[in-house]
Amino acid sequence: MRILVVEDERELARHIARALTRHGHIAGQQHDGAEALRCAAAEPPDLIVLDLNLPGLDGLSVLARLKQAGCPARVLILTARGAVEDRVKGLKAGADDYLAKPFSMDELVARIEALGRRGATPTAVDLLAVGDLHLDVHRRRVTRGDRVIELSPREFDLLQVLMQEPGRFFSRTELCELIWRRDHLYGTRTVEIFVTRLRKKVDSGFAVPLIQTLRTVGYTIRPPS
Ligand code: CA
Repeated sequence: MRILVVEDERELARHIARALTRHGHIAGQQHDGAEALRCAAAEPPDLIVLDLNLPGLDGLSVLARLKQAGCPARVLILTARGAVEDRVKGLKAGADDYLAKPFSMDELVARIEALGRRGATPTAVDLLAVGDLHLDVHRRRVTRGDRVIELSPREFDLLQVLMQEPGRFFSRTELCELIWRRDHLYGTRTVEIFVTRLRKKVDSGFAVPLIQTLRTVGYTIRPPS
């Protein structure tokens, strides 16, 4: 893949680019947001590793402009440890994945390669599908078969998070942080309530349930095997 690393800590940017090169990718580096935008427009990469905390034009603004310009690259954002809000904002703004600093280089490479295996077209990022369930990120519209499913904003967010990684189990704590921006002390019960509601809307009346629970682990959505 052609990958653009946008990170103002030059040593870290070099370190990431080197690791990616070792794994057979072509990695470029940019150290500020405006330059990164120019570079992505001139030669759109397949994937962008985007640090959120950049001088001048910050990462979220860069992400917004990339999406506005219809940039087809998938985006993995790097966030400061524990900056849950940034993570949520990033995912809502169209990022495909995130990794909190400090991270292991092996994990970064693994995440990047997982993103590379996902649908390569830009529409694959905006139009999520699991079995006959479809979610349009931009129009915020959900259908299953030919039925339109009406969801509240939070139900939609929850479904989007699950559908972005079909088959991956999300713990209640993780979902609570991602959707409600609160720590698990507050409300994993909220997550349970919303999953129950979502399940009613998405699965009831259909022969095959898509949302699955593993009691001690959490929730996932996946197509029937
Ligand atoms: Ca930074």
